Amino acid sequence: MKKIIQNRTILFVITISLLTITFILFSYFTIMKKYINIEKIENLKHLETFIHNMENRLLENEKKIDYLINLNKNYKNILEKNNLEKTDFIMNTLDLDFLIIEKNSKIVLKKINSNHKIKNLIHIEKKILNSFSNLLTFGTIANINSQLFFINKKTVNKEFFIYTVQHISKKELKNLALNFEKVSLIDEHIYSNNNEIFNSKIFDKIFLNTKIDIQNITTKVSFYNQESHYLFSLKLKNNTLFMKEGENTIFIFCAFLILFLILLFYTTYIYQKTLKQHNKNLENRVEERTLQISSALKELEKVNLKLYDLAHTDFLTKTMNRRHFFMHAQNIFSQANKSLNNLCVIMIDIDNFKRLNDSYGHDLGDRALVAFSKCVKENIIEDDIFGRLGGEEFAIVLKNTDLNKAIKIANKIRKSIENINIVIKNENINITASFGVSDIKNCSTIDEMLQKADTHLYSAKNSGKNRGRSRLNLI
Ligand code: GH3
Ligand code: MG
Ligand code: MG
Repeated sequence: MKKIIQNRTILFVITISLLTITFILFSYFTIMKKYINIEKIENLKHLETFIHNMENRLLENEKKIDYLINLNKNYKNILEKNNLEKTDFIMNTLDLDFLIIEKNSKIVLKKINSNHKIKNLIHIEKKILNSFSNLLTFGTIANINSQLFFINKKTVNKEFFIYTVQHISKKELKNLALNFEKVSLIDEHIYSNNNEIFNSKIFDKIFLNTKIDIQNITTKVSFYNQESHYLFSLKLKNNTLFMKEGENTIFIFCAFLILFLILLFYTTYIYQKTLKQHNKNLENRVEERTLQISSALKELEKVNLKLYDLAHTDFLTKTMNRRHFFMHAQNIFSQANKSLNNLCVIMIDIDNFKRLNDSYGHDLGDRALVAFSKCVKENIIEDDIFGRLGGEEFAIVLKNTDLNKAIKIANKIRKSIENINIVIKNENINITASFGVSDIKNCSTIDEMLQKADTHLYSAKNSGKNRGRSRLNLI
């Protein structure tokens, strides 16, 4: 029983632990999935801001060209070659790196900001003129020789075009993407159509690829212009904010859950321990009480036996008393009568007992009664019934015994009684007894049988005592 309870407890603990682990894992993945989504949405917002900043810069640069055109109108061909000193000042003011003016497909003016040092200028110039000569007015960002540039073109009239180029330094790039930890130019092209996300005024397509882990969220973005020409790619890296927070929340939640379970297990354990102790105490008390009850029952049994003895046994001779004897005798008579079995009774009366009492005292009389009873018991079997009917008068019921056998038994007892020796003050005293024997023949009750035996006993007394009488009239 104890083992079953122990096994059940272990099973309970294992089940609860497994359920908890499953629940924790399930919660972790479900909640983290949500946090990943939040992180991605936030990242997209940052990207939108970044792209918006780039667009604004391009629009600003467009306005710079307008400003230049106006200046040119106001100051009469300020952008002509002979006015180069003035353009120096203008370029510095407008923070431009490169200015190209094309007239009738010929470069009429090419101005480089001497304060800014840009490598491979010739290559850049070629690239810009080749790539964007078809377009009339545009603003874009391009990667030329691993350097990023804002490039704007404006058509003033049919034959007059102005290009402005502004190099984007690493610092400037970082300023455009303030929400990101790290921004860098990469060579990788991001294609997948699935990743296309932004509708930009300036860029035709923007593809992105986002990778997220517990620490960082990294997005690679590729920008394409209106003719789907690849422009440049950037890698934007940021620390994850929500995921870490989510992980901390889950960790705290799990810690509380585990703590609660430990408390639950501990309380259950203590409760079971107390219950076991309580049961043990109860069992001990029950055992103690059972012992007490069983010993009380034994005592009661003894008392009952004593009471039975007192109620059924003659106190002096320890033979059946009159009432008990008649009860038994009656039963035996009924059985014998029914089954037509032999049955005999012997009535015995000690001879001259009054004289014995008178001569030697009542105590000796008692001793004689005890010795007499003992002697009779020794001459009968356990199946026979022997009782004291009163005074010095006794009776025996012999089952399955015919009259002849009963007479023999009576004679045997009589002779044994003759041999009883009671010693008092160096004097040997002997006793005798007279017998009346009756069988079941012609008797319809035990009383009748006893009556007949008593009559024969009376006859024996009258015939000189110390003898027996029956319907056969001999012993
Ligand atoms: P009989 O030979 O004709 O039977 O004469 P008896 O003296 O034996 O008979 P009787 O009926 O005259 O006397 C019986 C006596 O038995 C009288 C009574 O005092 C005595 N007696 C009866 N019960 C007890 C007893 O328990 N103890 C003692 N010591 N004597 C008893
Ligand atoms: Mg007598
Ligand atoms: Mg008598």
